[in-house]
Amino acid sequence: MTNSNEALEKLKQGHQKFTEGTPIAAPSKELLCDLATNGQHPFAIVVTCSDSRVVPEFIFHCQPGDIFTIRTAGQVISDIEMGSIEYAVDHLGTRLVVVLGHTHCGAVHGACEPHDNCSCSLGALLSLVEPSVNAAKSQCRSDKELTAVAEDLNIRNMIKTIVDNPVFTGIADLKIVGAKYDIENGRILYWV
Ligand SMILES: [Zn+2]
Repeated sequence: MTNSNEALEKLKQGHQKFTEGTPIAAPSKELLCDLATNGQHPFAIVVTCSDSRVVPEFIFHCQPGDIFTIRTAGQVISDIEMGSIEYAVDHLGTRLVVVLGHTHCGAVHGACEPHDNCSCSLGALLSLVEPSVNAAKSQCRSDKELTAVAEDLNIRNMIKTIVDNPVFTGIADLKIVGAKYDIENGRILYWV
């Protein structure tokens, strides 16, 4: 089992390789065979947006078996996504959880725009982003910066959602962090 500090360092080193343009090798048959035979032991859980421009396996220069990825628009976390995180922590022994948000997030932008929360499932998704939007509105001086601030707060709110899950209380070495990825230059802007 990779400890949380080592796991975070691996992600940061992988991102460095990505930014340097180091090609990612196709997974070897030996790796695939080993994973199928001996099971997966991903060193990190990455909860990120479904946005097609955000590909965590590329961003962190990873191979199959490295990261356990959960994706929803706006990286919102409902019971279903939380269950996936619990599975990876409890059954796979993963000790690092990363909430990876990004710039120009359509889900966050959609929650910032006027919308009615119809009974459709998209309304349910946007409702999970709304607390971040409402908090951003009280902080922003202009509509121009609203989406970006809401994106930042949405990362922090999803971290809090995970931290507040009592299932994780007392699990040694579990680290829950966030990061924001810039889709324009392919770089992580910050870690929190
Ligand atoms: Zn997004």
